[in-house]
Amino acid sequence: MSLLNGKVALITGGSRGIGEAIVLKFAQQGADVAFTYLSSEDKAQSVVQAAQQFGVRAKAYKSDAADYTEAENLITDVLNEFGKIDVLINNAGITKDTLMLRMSEEQWDQVIEVNLKSVFNLTKHVLKPMMKQKAGSIINMSSVVGVFGNAGQANYAASKAGIIGFTKSIAKEVGSRNIRCNAIAPGFIETDMTHILTEDQKKAYIDSIPLKRLGNGNDVAEACVYLGSDMSTYVSGQVLSVCGALNT
Ligand code: NAP
Repeated sequence: MSLLNGKVALITGGSRGIGEAIVLKFAQQGADVAFTYLSSEDKAQSVVQAAQQFGVRAKAYKSDAADYTEAENLITDVLNEFGKIDVLINNAGITKDTLMLRMSEEQWDQVIEVNLKSVFNLTKHVLKPMMKQKAGSIINMSSVVGVFGNAGQANYAASKAGIIGFTKSIAKEVGSRNIRCNAIAPGFIETDMTHILTEDQKKAYIDSIPLKRLGNGNDVAEACVYLGSDMSTYVSGQVLSVCGALNT
C-alpha cells in the first residue's frame, strides 16, 4: 500500500540521520521528495539517487534553514519545481551541549536559530501556498528533551520546547484552513547526533527505556508517514512521542 501517492513533501536536513530515513520512507510510500542539507553535498546526492529508486521525483537543495531569505527562496524553488507542497517536515537540527555556566552566547544563539527560528522561517513561507490549496500537513521535530529538559542541554531543550508551543499555536491558527501541524518528540535515536555517546552512556540510556533499545531513523520516519498521510486527517496540535516509552 502506498500511503503518500501523489503528495509532495519538503524535508529539512534530509542528507543524514532521521531526515534521510524520512526522505526514503516517504519515497517508498509514493511521495515526491524535496529535501535540504547544509554541507553534505555528496551524501545528499546519494540520498537523491536512493529515493529515485522508488520511482518518485527527488531533489536536494543546499539551503540554510536558519536563514529567513534562504527559506523563502527554497519554498519558491520547490513550488516552481514540484508544483505544490503537501507536507513540510521541519527536521533540521543541531546540538551544542554544555553546562549553563560554560555556555556562550554563540552556542545559545546557534541552537535557537537552527532548531527553532528555522521552524518559523519554513512555516511562515509555506502557509500561503498551503492555504491556497486548502490542505497541508506540517510536522516539526521536537524531542523528549523539550518535554523533560536535560542537564547540559538548556539551549537544545529550550529550542525543542519552543517548537511544541509553536506547533500548538499554528494548529489553532490555521486549522480552519485544513492545515494540520503536529510535533514529534523522538527519544534517543541512533544517528550522528548521538554517536558521541560512549558505550556506557548508551547502556545507561537503554536500561532506562522500557522497550530496551535505542530508536532508529525508521521508527521516526514511520510516525512522519502517519502524520503526513490521510491516515491522520483529524489529528492536529499534538506531540507524538517516539521514544520506546521513555516519556511515559
Ligand atoms: P543529524 O544526524 O546530525 O543530521 C542533521 C541534519 O540536519 C543533516 O541533514 C544536516 O545537514 C541538517 N542540518 C543541520 N543544520 C542545518 C541547517 N542550518 N540548515 C539545513 N539543514 C541543516 O541529526 P538527527 O539525529 O538526524 O536529528 C534530526 C532531528 O531530530 C533534529 O531536529 C534533532 O534535534 C531531532 N532529534 C534527534 C534525536 C536523536 O536522538 N538523534 C532525538 C530527538 C530529536 P548536513 O548533512 O549538510 O550537515
